[in-house]
Amino acid sequence: MHFPKLFSPIKLGPCEIKNRIVSTGHDTVLSTGGLVNDRLVAYHAARAAGGCGLIVTQVAAVHHTAFYTPYLLIATDDNFIPGYRKIVEACHAHGAKIFGQLFHPGREVSASMDGTAALAYAPSASPSERFRTIPCEMTLEMIDEIIEGYGQTARRMAEAGADGVEIVASHGYLPAQFLSQSVNLRTDKYGDSDENRLRFLKDVIASIREQVGDDIVVGMRISVDEKNEAGLKQEESLAAIAALDDDLDYLSIVAGTSATSQGATHIVPSMNFEHGYTSPLGVLAKQHFSGPVIVTGRINQPQIAEELIKSGDADLCGMTRAMVCDPEMPNKSMQGDSEDVRACIGCNQACIGHVLKGDGISCIQHPETGRELEYGTLEMAPSPKKILVVGGGPAGMKAAAVAASRGHKVTLMEREAHLGGQARRAHLLPGREEFANLITNLSHEAERAGVQIMCNQNVDATVIEEHGPDEIVLACGARPYMPTIEGAEEANIVNAWQVLDGTAKIGNSVLIADWTSDWIALGIAEKLAREGCKVRLAVTGATAGETLQQYIKNMWNSTLLDLGVEMIPFTRIFGADTNTVYLERTVISGHVVIEGIDTVVVTHGNASNTELAQQLDGRKKGTVHAIGDCLTPRDAESAIFEGLKIGVRV
Ligand code: SF4
Repeated sequence: MHFPKLFSPIKLGPCEIKNRIVSTGHDTVLSTGGLVNDRLVAYHAARAAGGCGLIVTQVAAVHHTAFYTPYLLIATDDNFIPGYRKIVEACHAHGAKIFGQLFHPGREVSASMDGTAALAYAPSASPSERFRTIPCEMTLEMIDEIIEGYGQTARRMAEAGADGVEIVASHGYLPAQFLSQSVNLRTDKYGDSDENRLRFLKDVIASIREQVGDDIVVGMRISVDEKNEAGLKQEESLAAIAALDDDLDYLSIVAGTSATSQGATHIVPSMNFEHGYTSPLGVLAKQHFSGPVIVTGRINQPQIAEELIKSGDADLCGMTRAMVCDPEMPNKSMQGDSEDVRACIGCNQACIGHVLKGDGISCIQHPETGRELEYGTLEMAPSPKKILVVGGGPAGMKAAAVAASRGHKVTLMEREAHLGGQARRAHLLPGREEFANLITNLSHEAERAGVQIMCNQNVDATVIEEHGPDEIVLACGARPYMPTIEGAEEANIVNAWQVLDGTAKIGNSVLIADWTSDWIALGIAEKLAREGCKVRLAVTGATAGETLQQYIKNMWNSTLLDLGVEMIPFTRIFGADTNTVYLERTVISGHVVIEGIDTVVVTHGNASNTELAQQLDGRKKGTVHAIGDCLTPRDAESAIFEGLKIGVRV
């Protein structure tokens, strides 16, 4: 048997879970008006069909003061029940168990439901640094209502058929605020002593049990380490865990808090964190809690999960993004096809990245995620065709893989010696090494689907017509765009690709002129600063990496400041000479002159490679399709999604 520990059943309270793989509660932005819709049902059903043992659905508000974004589930009345029942039934049909998260954010409110400033209620008026809320102190009457809300929400979930409920005491949300000595400044029965600070959770559990008895599972999620000195201390978490040992059927442990930028990076840890890095917290939790413990934190592969369970660091593993990226991960692993698992690379781009922008959850590598209703099932092509894909970057690989999976005869021609396109350069940047797995995953998908891959193949119209395809997918990518810079001929000006390829001559003092505001300028700045250069980073906006997911943007900007990189915001390059760079302000009028610059690195994005499209102009209508950067330069996510779209259309 493959991964015998991971695929052994386990009991949580009265409920047996068929394996140790958990999709932990996470926002999806797939619901409508706080209620479950078909899209959300299809999303969870896909993970259940893929073999996940336990699905914990996203946070559901237990009280009207708990609406922390416009996108959460609202379980404050019985209208919630019919929709939630659809999730339960769809997932039960595949043998997965369903728990619901009972949620109140306390002071961690990021947005109101009507566009006005966030209004937060908390145990005390202790500010949240990240959301800049100074909450209104809850009255005892409100606390009673909220406690009742936990019980009623649990009842609604139980009536919908859920197998369990989970109190969200993690990430600095309301129960954690009550537990924390530095956040909870109350002097009544809910504060002022360890016993009183624990009272809120005790009352919540009592309210839940009163409504659902012992028939369904009652567990709790908690950050063993909030990574925030001003929040819940590790000893406070562990003391609470120990004190609730008799009250809870299981524990789900994580790190981090919503209250600070540093703590928030642990909510959805990026590729900057090691795989399974929270396992020491699991060990600590298990020393204080006798029931099963779920451990979550960059566990992206079955091998890692198997090891954690075998070593006793965890009883179950939260593998949420592993299944956002590959819903079939459990089934593939169980069947011995773990080589086929599309491993999550921790880029945070389309999962939490989408969610924080208010877009539906997806995955950069698997754009079918969140779009199960449209792309969940691949239809075989009615009449197989001969398809030629030109370009082996992310767009081309995905298009080829999908088209071949639908029964087409697909050839992929790539000019370079290896597949990957720009993703090959992305992984050369500091901290982005895991990006290489995107290439491995996509090329493996293409090979497995039977695509004929031809590298070192220059393609022009003649080569194409000799090959004789019915349809052609142009995924030939782009090349660096160079803006007009006065005096450029006198200066040492290079582009990002030359820096990454090692073909640029770099002096000691470098100015990076950035326009894209993505990971490239940040990565080049870090690389050159670590190599000993004095680096200045001129950006057109307020900060660098503005298009990136906030945890990654914040971490990277902080790293650059630590390395001494000088930021020059709101500027664009317009001139340069042998050792001077001329910038103009982007918001107000004015210039900035920077002297003593040896090298200018321009990161102004790319321009599409359109030569082949022009050569094929006039070919039979509807037989030539440009996708990805070849159509217009964007990011890997857009390229891969476009690969999927053309793959299902040809
Ligand atoms: Fe993982 Fe990136 Fe996909 Fe998110 S978008 S699930 S981090 S690969």
